[in-house]
Amino acid sequence: MNNKQTCVLVVEDDAAVRNLITVALGSHGYQWLSAVTGAEAVDVISASDPSIVLLDLGLPDIDGQDVIAKVRTWSQVPIIVVSARADDLDKIRALDAGADDYLSKPFSVGELLARIRTCERHLSYMVREEPHESTFRNGDLSIDFVAGTVMLDGKELHLTPREYKLLCLLARNVGRVLTHQFILREAWSGTQEGDLASLRVFMGNLRKKIGKRYIQTHVGVGYRMVRV
Ligand code: CA
Repeated sequence: MNNKQTCVLVVEDDAAVRNLITVALGSHGYQWLSAVTGAEAVDVISASDPSIVLLDLGLPDIDGQDVIAKVRTWSQVPIIVVSARADDLDKIRALDAGADDYLSKPFSVGELLARIRTCERHLSYMVREEPHESTFRNGDLSIDFVAGTVMLDGKELHLTPREYKLLCLLARNVGRVLTHQFILREAWSGTQEGDLASLRVFMGNLRKKIGKRYIQTHVGVGYRMVRV
């Protein structure tokens, strides 16, 4: 992907850190926008539709965690949290709320740029896979979205409706880590039965049926379908 097309929103109230990041982005050919408060960040995301968001958690008005929750109600824009909070619980909370990645301060500019490039690769997968293809292929696995059938090595697989929904969700986002919360929201559609324990059970059954190599578990974060 040509990084000149990527516009990064930098949400950071510390002017020195904000300048460090925006100068690095500019010198590597990225377009950028900046916001100082959480409310401003939400406004800029809805008005300007940036490609990637870098988000500090300690903001002067609302907490960065609340920014993630708010934005996720309407947008799947990749969010990389850049925070001085090194606590595992903060990381897990941010990732479960829908952040895509987490970088602890102090960070190196090189690592930040590498994380942005990873997001860009995930974006290019999404663009490639999302346009309503009627079939999906990955190794011996194929899905016919129109017929609602799944074939593995030439034989039709019998999946429950929920397993089929989970598989389609992973396939449509192949290469991308989907957080538990995202999967629960998408595959259970707000009903009460969706919780982490049942997600694990369904995912375990699905992996037994299609073979373990297709779905990676990211402990404490979520799941990802890999290209085989
Ligand atoms: Ca801050």
